[in-house]
Amino acid sequence: MPRRFYCPSLLESGSVVLEGPEAHHLIHVLRAETGEIAEVFDGRGLVASARVTSVRKRDVELKILSARRDDTSRRQIILGTAVPKGDRFEWLVEKATELGVTRLVPLVTARSVVDPRDSKLEKLRQAVITACKQSGRNHLMEVSAVTAWSDFVQADLSQHSSFVAHPGPDAEQVSPGLLKGLPSVVFAVGPEGGFADNEVAMALAVGARSIRLGPLILRIETAALALAAFAAL
Ligand code: SAH
Repeated sequence: MPRRFYCPSLLESGSVVLEGPEAHHLIHVLRAETGEIAEVFDGRGLVASARVTSVRKRDVELKILSARRDDTSRRQIILGTAVPKGDRFEWLVEKATELGVTRLVPLVTARSVVDPRDSKLEKLRQAVITACKQSGRNHLMEVSAVTAWSDFVQADLSQHSSFVAHPGPDAEQVSPGLLKGLPSVVFAVGPEGGFADNEVAMALAVGARSIRLGPLILRIETAALALAAFAAL
C-alpha cells in the first residue's frame, strides 16, 4: 500500500495541497521528494493516487493521477461506550477504527468516572485519522460529542437493533447468529462500575437486548472491542 495522507478537501482531479500535520509528516518525517507517488483520501470515501509536484517549507502539492470512490457497503456499527481511564480510550478509538466501527459515542452514565473534555476529543479524532491512514480505511470513524446515557437511549438505542453489554444471569449470551442479517447495530458498554439497574431498564424499555460476553468480567475497552470485532468481521 502506498503512503496515505488525509485531505478533507480532496477533489477528483487537479491538484491538492497538504498542510498542517499531514504536510509535516510528509516533509519532515518521510522526507518526501518531488515525483513520489502517494495515496490521498478525504475521509468520506474519495481516494486518489497522486504524485508529489512540489515540496515547500510548510505544504506539499500533489497532482491527482486517478481517483475512485470507495463505496464498500458494510454493516453500520454504532458503539456507545463509557470512557476508560488514561491512554486506554485513545487505544480503544484506534482499534475501533481499524475494526470498522462507524461511529463511537463516549457515554456519561451514573457510575462513569471519566468525562473527556473537548480538547481530548480532538486528540481522539487525530487518532482516527492515523488509524485510517495505516489501515487503508477511507471513511473516518465518527467520534461523537460526549453524550448522556438518556440521550443515547433515545437517539440511538431506540432507532436500531440494540444491545447493552451487561454481565449477569439475565443477559443473553452472545452467539454466532445474534447479528445475522442486521444492517445496523448499536452496542452500549458501561463503566467499570457497570450500568445502574435503572439505566438497563431504560434501554430494555426502548427494545434493546441485554447481552453477555462469556462468564468473565471484561474491562471497558475489552468488551467494546470484542463487540466491534463480533459485528465487523
Ligand atoms: N462491575 C461491573 C462490570 C463492569 S465492566 C458489573 O458487574 O456490572 C465494564 C463494562 O464492560 C460493563 O458495564 C459491561 O458493559 C461490559 N462488560 C464487561 N464484561 C462483560 C461481560 N462478560 N458481558 C457483557 N458485558 C461485559
